[in-house]
Amino acid sequence: MGDSSQRTTDELREVVDEIRKEAGSRLAIMAHYYAPDEVVELADEVGDSLALAKKAAASTADAVLFCGVHFMLETADILMNAPEKLEARNGRRALVMAPDPTAGCPMADMIAFDQAIEWERQLATLVDVSEFTPITYVNSSAATKAFCGERDGAVCTSANAEKVVRDALRKRPKLLFMPDSRLGRTTCLALGFSHDEIAVWTPDVPLGGNEPEKLRRARAVLWDGYCPIHQKFSADVITEIRAKNPDAKFWVHPEAPREIVDLSDGYGSTTKLLQVVADAAPGSTLAIGTEWKLVDRMRRQNSDKTILYPGATPSVCEDMSKSTLEKVAIALRAWRDGEPINVVTTPDEIAASARKALASLL
Ligand code: SF4
Repeated sequence: MGDSSQRTTDELREVVDEIRKEAGSRLAIMAHYYAPDEVVELADEVGDSLALAKKAAASTADAVLFCGVHFMLETADILMNAPEKLEARNGRRALVMAPDPTAGCPMADMIAFDQAIEWERQLATLVDVSEFTPITYVNSSAATKAFCGERDGAVCTSANAEKVVRDALRKRPKLLFMPDSRLGRTTCLALGFSHDEIAVWTPDVPLGGNEPEKLRRARAVLWDGYCPIHQKFSADVITEIRAKNPDAKFWVHPEAPREIVDLSDGYGSTTKLLQVVADAAPGSTLAIGTEWKLVDRMRRQNSDKTILYPGATPSVCEDMSKSTLEKVAIALRAWRDGEPINVVTTPDEIAASARKALASLL
């Protein structure tokens, strides 16, 4: 880094530090593991979606600057402004602010509320939809969560998907899983489903592209959404890594395609992957299949281990990269000056239904 950019970085850190000192416990900065290093380093809370949702639910701050993507801010807003929280704050809403309002999640955007309604309508022409529990991955809009909440469904994360699905199956025998078909399939297979019991629903195609008989038989119908960042791992690169490093352990995030999960020694949430790396013996070799910025950070923080990447090129979530130090400083200044920017607010009706589904995370 050149002198002038280092000076700018130092100045921005000073601005952030000064505002935080002034604000004390009124302000919290939260960052997802995939946020840039410069922001992860200064955050009060760093974690995966599950951990950050819990932190938001427990937070007593007046304002949170959330360095993640839009659905995470919606979740924080919904949990921080639950009726009992509002009452404790004498009706004052907690503010959830983004460094960059354009940071979204392509996977969350792969299903809209109207598409979910149409999915259910078409299924109802063939099966009894009251036998299905709708479950959405937390990487989804508040409206998708509300769709599930209104139907006694639930929200899961990659850390607790098996538990949430198992609990749902105790209530009703079948499930709709959205929007991540990859996490849905891996979770169902872990719980003993066969591939034949799983149908995948292609959006905007009659019957999701399925034969009626397939849908009648299915115990799980998965919306065909996916995370583009976790599709870029390569079976060839993994085979090459294994050939050159026979002792290497390969762990991957469950947003990866099933063929890649099948090649792994294990899979798990970002928190789990961090734990696997931390627990590995010095001198060991691992290949870690998740977002590049996190893997690169793992490498730098574990110089006594060799950490390889199972993709031909680094797969970076550009949306998560949008929360730069400069934008953090700009958003904090605006908040301090009484003119907060990029505030995410979920309409009350959607928030109330989404909150019912979010109860499965807390
Ligand atoms: S890594 Fe994938 S799932 Fe996560 S925010 Fe980026 S696009 Fe969405």
